[in-house]
Amino acid sequence: MIEGLYIHVPFCDGKCHYCAFYSVPYSREKGAAWLAALKREAEAARSEFGPFAFSTVFLGGGTPTILPMDQLEALLGVVGRLIEMREASVVTGVSPVSTQEKKDAADTAATTIEWTSEANPGSVDGDKLRLMKSAGVNRISLGAQAFDDGVLRQLGRRHSVKDIYAAVEAIKSAGFTNWGLDLIACVPGVSLEAWRESLCAAVALDPAHVSVYALTREEGTRLDRDHQAGVIALLDDDEQLRMLDLAEEVLGAAGLPRYEISNYARPGFECRHNLSCWRGGNYLGLGCAASSRVGNRRWTNAADFESYLTAGAREEEVLTPLIDGVERLIFGLRMAEGIDLEAILLACGLAGSPQEAAWKKTLARLEGEGLVVSGGGRWCLTTRGRELADHVAVELMP
Ligand code: SF4
Repeated sequence: MIEGLYIHVPFCDGKCHYCAFYSVPYSREKGAAWLAALKREAEAARSEFGPFAFSTVFLGGGTPTILPMDQLEALLGVVGRLIEMREASVVTGVSPVSTQEKKDAADTAATTIEWTSEANPGSVDGDKLRLMKSAGVNRISLGAQAFDDGVLRQLGRRHSVKDIYAAVEAIKSAGFTNWGLDLIACVPGVSLEAWRESLCAAVALDPAHVSVYALTREEGTRLDRDHQAGVIALLDDDEQLRMLDLAEEVLGAAGLPRYEISNYARPGFECRHNLSCWRGGNYLGLGCAASSRVGNRRWTNAADFESYLTAGAREEEVLTPLIDGVERLIFGLRMAEGIDLEAILLACGLAGSPQEAAWKKTLARLEGEGLVVSGGGRWCLTTRGRELADHVAVELMP
């Protein structure tokens, strides 16, 4: 079963200095061409894998909210048709034929599926939010990034703090209760006190979810070039840890415990889409540069706009039991819930294999070093283990 649907909307209104995600500048013509290609890809996916039973939908990018109303409506329609197939099979067992049946199916989808859309403060407004809500979107992830105009400019963002407040107001007015903010930590020049103020400004808005990503240097970004040219120096490991610890302290005190290394939520508001992916669930990714995982197959569409329009190449790989197992271990340990090693071994067909003994030996050693802890049939990272999560991951590689 394919639990999740991800659609990568490739458009942005510029390039943030730290961003390595695939994006192209938006134009109306490109938007129309992309939507036509997306519809074709969705139809092909439906023929190959449908009918669908998605539990989660995620519109990411890029910037889904950069699309004007008519193109946003068309994008929502692509998802709506795929969801309708899900409700046709799950709710009635047959395709819905009457208008009422279709309405009932859509209503059921809206309440049972977690449907997230990313939104940018500079491009989202009340009309777009109401349109998304009426189509079934029930979760918004807002790319706030910082509550300081100087830091936003430093990051190459094109919105202001005022835009963030206006966007949050619009999100609340449109009736969304499940919404969150993305923040960037560890920006050079930002003191601990200034970071605390940003975190406090974020929690004062009462989000249900906050993601905190440390600023990292990705190849090909302006940040990377500036770093290599000596224009900017990133924080060292200890400074980074202090910033991330402070995030955990402030967000935890505000009722948003850390449920994954970079993610905090009010209990019950964790991102179900990401949880499913981290637990090794199947997902379909549509759009240029989107990845899919179905069973032991994984493929990624070419990160190339023109080639996507002509249904161009995609990279395919077969997930061996070993690759599948190690990924479930590493992503699973990043979550506070940790991993059920026996369940992972069974899911990957590795129970009783030499790898089982090897992983058990490694985990026991890491427990001795205070990096992981076991109990109730599960393994979790300790606080120190979270700080050294990359080291733990390397140790678990076969
Ligand atoms: S808006 Fe998001 S996707 Fe676009 S360049 Fe900035 S970080 Fe990247």
